[in-house]
Amino acid sequence: MIIISSKSSSQFISRYEGNYHKDIILGIGGGQVAEEAKWVGKHLRKEVILVPTNLSCDAFWTKTVAVRIPGKQPVYVDAVRPITVEFDGEILTICHKRYLVAGWADILSGITAMDRMAGNQYTIQMCKLIDKCCYPGTVEEIKVLFDTLEEEVKLCDLAGSSAVEEGLEHKIAYELEKYNKFDLLHGELVFMGIQLLMQKGFLMSSSCDKIKYFFNKLEIKPTEWVKLFGKDLCEAIVDEVWR
Ligand SMILES: [Zn+2]
Repeated sequence: MIIISSKSSSQFISRYEGNYHKDIILGIGGGQVAEEAKWVGKHLRKEVILVPTNLSCDAFWTKTVAVRIPGKQPVYVDAVRPITVEFDGEILTICHKRYLVAGWADILSGITAMDRMAGNQYTIQMCKLIDKCCYPGTVEEIKVLFDTLEEEVKLCDLAGSSAVEEGLEHKIAYELEKYNKFDLLHGELVFMGIQLLMQKGFLMSSSCDKIKYFFNKLEIKPTEWVKLFGKDLCEAIVDEVWR
């Protein structure tokens, strides 16, 4: 067995290393560890099992890894899909809330796609996933996030593209990534993208209600992050992707 972990997540290795006897790659950690494990799994032709120590994105369920080249949009390359993603409520309740909250961004981002693809069969299903959105406080609420992220990835696979989930807000997020010296998470940049589209009046009001409801529950509001990056830069980015 090959175990891949990060410094902060290595404390959880002993909980899992004895559980599997097979010749597998065991990844314990956040999104980056998930990507590494999938990549190593591809190259060593081994099965991958993941234990997320946070739910900051949907990478735990996808078979792709994002290759990031500075100054460019990430390129998604096929790796392997994990055969199991373990839900560990104990680990996930002690992880910092911002890493869980950020995970909802990859579901809520479906809202902008919805406005664009109204009536499409997959957007109706995406809508049902968006309705499950709740602030991840209790283990039960964290499990809702876990299950919803898994379902979202399945839905994108079924639809044959991530277009039901990723819209303009993701384009904005990838642009913001270039200027992200504040270490904001992918999901937080996506939240900023949604906030900016909403501010510009580019989202339907029914969509805005759902987003505002969730944003109101956040410790730090996306409007605060917009201030960090500066209004001018944000507006220039929105204008650029909207064209
Ligand atoms: Zn995303």
